[in-house]
Amino acid sequence: MKKLLLASILTFSLLMTAQKKYVLVIHGGAGTILKSSMTAEKENAYKTKLTEALNAGYAELQKGNSAVEAVAASIVIMEDSPLFNAGKGAVFTAEGKNELDASIMYGKDKSAGAIAGVHTIKNPIKAAIAVMQKSEHVMLSGVGAEQFAKEQNLEIVDPKYFWTKDRWDGLQKLQKKESLKVNKETSQNTLPESYEIDQKFGTVGAVALDINGNLAAGTSTGGMTNKKYGRIGDAPIIGAGTYANSQVGISATGWGEYFIRATAARTIAAKMEYQNKDLRTAAQETIDEIEKLGGDGGLIALDKDGNIAMPFNTAGMYRGAMTENGEIMIEIYK
Ligand code: ASP
Repeated sequence: MKKLLLASILTFSLLMTAQKKYVLVIHGGAGTILKSSMTAEKENAYKTKLTEALNAGYAELQKGNSAVEAVAASIVIMEDSPLFNAGKGAVFTAEGKNELDASIMYGKDKSAGAIAGVHTIKNPIKAAIAVMQKSEHVMLSGVGAEQFAKEQNLEIVDPKYFWTKDRWDGLQKLQKKESLKVNKETSQNTLPESYEIDQKFGTVGAVALDINGNLAAGTSTGGMTNKKYGRIGDAPIIGAGTYANSQVGISATGWGEYFIRATAARTIAAKMEYQNKDLRTAAQETIDEIEKLGGDGGLIALDKDGNIAMPFNTAGMYRGAMTENGEIMIEIYK
């Protein structure tokens, strides 16, 4: 009898510990991130900011707040940092504007929110969350989305707030490169091929598993340098750049058109749901398919048991995770 009691106490406490599992995974974009072209100073700046983003999101989970709050806290830190292609530091469109997209999905009830093509919302992820929680819609775009954000009392800034010299120079170089391509008489192309790709990636994202076992995933981006005609990538598209259900959460980064065509984030969830594939296999197969289509990038995925997958087919991807024992992992290169 005593043994039985002891065994049930042990099982109960093990169950309680199992329930207390919370995990956070983030990314700061995939691309031609080579150690050889990185200074120690720059590498340090990225690592420090990724750590800050992890700590902010993790603090929410520790407080017992939901996965949505954790994702928001992490993404806001990266949106506010000029290091990443989201919020301040976003890349420029062909017209020289910063045009932002973001999305969020909560696995618990499959609620979702997204905004696309906005120029004045300081933290696009907050607007995506407001769409999810305060509207009957899933995606709002352009001036309508900005009007909604204003009505929700979110911080509105002058579009100049998003301007950074690095990204501006990036646009000038890319436009020069493209004009060289167009000008057939010019056979010399002085810019390295990798430059074009470098300027296109840098999206941020986060996936969290909270103390109640719920998952949320969010993504925020400036899109791709030199984008035209109101182009929208995968980041604000639920099922492409972002997805979460009760089993798994995913946030992607890379050449958005390919992630849309592969319905990347939802495909990972479907492989797990219908084919019983484990997280890592499902995530890797999806990146492989994107590569086969000709695209590149990466993603972070987290399942309800706290398993993590971070596949990418580029030279590097800024990424980090914080597991239930509070251990931080940050990686940049392959
Ligand atoms: N996926 C984003 C887009 O295509 C770009 C990125 O990941 O940096 O808009």
